[in-house]
Amino acid sequence: MACGLLLWSAYSFATKLEPTIYYQTDPAHQLQLTDLIEQGEWQRLPLGSEVSFGYTTDTYWFKSRIPAANEDRILSLGYPLLDSVGIFFVRNGEVIETYHVGDKQPFDERPVEHKNFIVPLPDRQAAEVYLQVRTESSMRFPLEIWQPLAFMQEQQYLVAATAMYFGLLYCMAIYNLFSFGVTRDPAFLKYSAYIVSIGLLVAGLDGTGYQYVWSEWPWLQDRIVTMIGSLVFLFASMVAAQVLQTKTRSPGLHKGLVTLQFIYGVIFILSMILSYAVLIPFVLTLAVFGCFYLMLTGAVLWRRGLTYARIYTLALGSLLFAVICNALGYLGLFESVFVQRYAIMIASAIEIMLLSLVLAIRFNEDRRERLVAEQQLNTQLEAMVGQRTAELEAVMGKLREANSELEQKSNEDRLTGLFNRGFLDEELPLEIRRAQRNKQSMAVLMMDIDHFKPINDEYGHLVGDEILIQLSDLLKDTCKRAGDRIFRYGGEEFVILMPVTDEAGAQEIAERLTMTIREHVFSTDHGMMQITASIGIAVYHPSVYEVSESELLAVADDALYRAKHAGRDTVRAARVANPNSKYTESF
Ligand code: GH3
Ligand code: MG
Ligand code: MG
Repeated sequence: MACGLLLWSAYSFATKLEPTIYYQTDPAHQLQLTDLIEQGEWQRLPLGSEVSFGYTTDTYWFKSRIPAANEDRILSLGYPLLDSVGIFFVRNGEVIETYHVGDKQPFDERPVEHKNFIVPLPDRQAAEVYLQVRTESSMRFPLEIWQPLAFMQEQQYLVAATAMYFGLLYCMAIYNLFSFGVTRDPAFLKYSAYIVSIGLLVAGLDGTGYQYVWSEWPWLQDRIVTMIGSLVFLFASMVAAQVLQTKTRSPGLHKGLVTLQFIYGVIFILSMILSYAVLIPFVLTLAVFGCFYLMLTGAVLWRRGLTYARIYTLALGSLLFAVICNALGYLGLFESVFVQRYAIMIASAIEIMLLSLVLAIRFNEDRRERLVAEQQLNTQLEAMVGQRTAELEAVMGKLREANSELEQKSNEDRLTGLFNRGFLDEELPLEIRRAQRNKQSMAVLMMDIDHFKPINDEYGHLVGDEILIQLSDLLKDTCKRAGDRIFRYGGEEFVILMPVTDEAGAQEIAERLTMTIREHVFSTDHGMMQITASIGIAVYHPSVYEVSESELLAVADDALYRAKHAGRDTVRAARVANPNSKYTESF
């Protein structure tokens, strides 16, 4: 929209009438108006061209004939950076009106308050106008004579376009500032600063800034281009470094950007001390160089696959074009105030919009990268947790194994590897309850080796131990029925728990045992030996009586005692039958 208005204005510019202009230079600043009216070495400017003489310290004199007309007219000098302009209207060799304008003068002293230099013609008759121009900035002279109504009409488009341009910048700057406030991403802050600096620079070049913002400060107007120009590139390189993440993606290019920032920073400080004329060549050279460097940075990262670097490079390309146009114009090598002024407006508007797109994409990609990183971290974490769990489970397994081994060990008799007495104390009550629950009889066999003491006494304890070990194996081999368990009850006494066993069954096994032991030959360090054993059996029928474990053992012990008394190497049994007479029936 703003671009459309500007183009329309360009068309209007092209249709306006431009007077024929003559000029001459006055390097020594000595020429007087009276001398020039009389004579002077005037040269004619090419008709219809806008003139740029580049940077010069010379005083320039211009003269033009204004034809008579039947309407009021105004004279417009469309380059607002001229320092000092004396305007003299002359008729028949007499000065009839004089004006002094220029941007060294406070804004409100202008005859017409306009960003360009506007003065009314004294009357409708023919006259000559002489202009004496001195400036530190580029010497340009876009002189036009307008009929006021046409001028007003013309201005409407320009004012609207300019207002839209600054409105766009203003909104973008505020929006990015808000984005910074919300996201705390410094890219938005730097970008906002960049937009403001571009806006100030264009306002300076265009005269709008002096008209509306710093009217009271001719000092600032005088050096706005060098001051703000250096800031523009300072912020531009800061934005580039931030947006393209050069620090991590290309440290080499990043160093260049930091150097540029330093140089622009120094120029900014110098611009407050040194005059515009001294600094402007550096600023322009650095502007062109900086633009190329920023574009190079964008292009390199584009080639390295950074997607939004492409848009960034395009955005900068448009600005570079405008900057080069301007630089050429100021140096007097390219002559179009319109192209220069409005090109930079259009290009910077396009650039700013594209850059904000870049910023949005970058922000989005950052978020996506963070999300991917988060996911990766999560998977890593899950894997780690899985690994730790597996390790923990392995350790737990080992611990369980060790525990059951320990438990087994604590249930085991060290010498024989049979269950020990402690375990019998745990198991016997359970076995009794099971028998009660299932209403099935059970038997407890208590066995004692006969005359074992003499063996120990004669051959020593080690031989006795050897026999105990071999006897244990013999017991294990003989009592193989599932559920039968053998315990070492004391020194050479053993208990065999036999669930689901009645008198007959128990008797049979006990006799088989005594027979097996009797017939077995034990080999010891002292030769072959033979022993016998006596067995007492207690059989319990749950239907008869609720027995305690100690009672049951006592019954078995009693039966064993009877076996010993019966001459040893024999079996005696008793049934737990009568609750009143503790010990029951023998059979
Ligand atoms: P009997 O049972 O026929 O009446 O005679 P006995 O000589 O076997 O007498 P008793 O049952 O009282 O035997 C206890 C002996 O068993 C004492 C000890 O010499 C022996 N003895 C007990 N425990 C162990 C042991 O762990 N190792 C060895 N070598 N001998 C043991
Ligand atoms: Mg004994
Ligand atoms: Mg004994």
